[in-house]
Amino acid sequence: MNIALIAHDKKKQTMINFTLAYKHVLEKHHLFATGTTGKLISEETGLSIHRFLSGPFGGDQQIGAMIANNDMDMVIFFRDPLTAQPHEPDVSALVRLCDVHQIPLATNLSSAEIFIHGLEQGSLDWRKIIKEKKGRK
Ligand code: PGA
Repeated sequence: MNIALIAHDKKKQTMINFTLAYKHVLEKHHLFATGTTGKLISEETGLSIHRFLSGPFGGDQQIGAMIANNDMDMVIFFRDPLTAQPHEPDVSALVRLCDVHQIPLATNLSSAEIFIHGLEQGSLDWRKIIKEKKGRK
């Protein structure tokens, strides 16, 4: 599965803790992240991760493009609900695209943990079927 990991600044430590705790699951998948989030995750966990631009410089939109192309299977996006973001329109666009394309989106730690357990149990295997069908067209 292709998994996107994004965290606003005040949630970055939460993301590091999360990726450390679930490294054994995440390392079996293809990981993508916005620039700073990805740098921190790879430094702190050693996980291999494709880094896009930093969020405010277009990283959210690059991940959005993958969603629009049906190339992203899950998005874990620890948003900071208490701080205004300069790139709020990009954040909203990313969330919207997840809804448009039925991509599982976790915006906080509690949801993300459920997603990770679901991933381990194969609850997202339907994504493989959808991708195979689209690939045949
Ligand atoms: P960052 O971007 O990982 O480059 O900090 C995250 C964001 O704010 O969207």
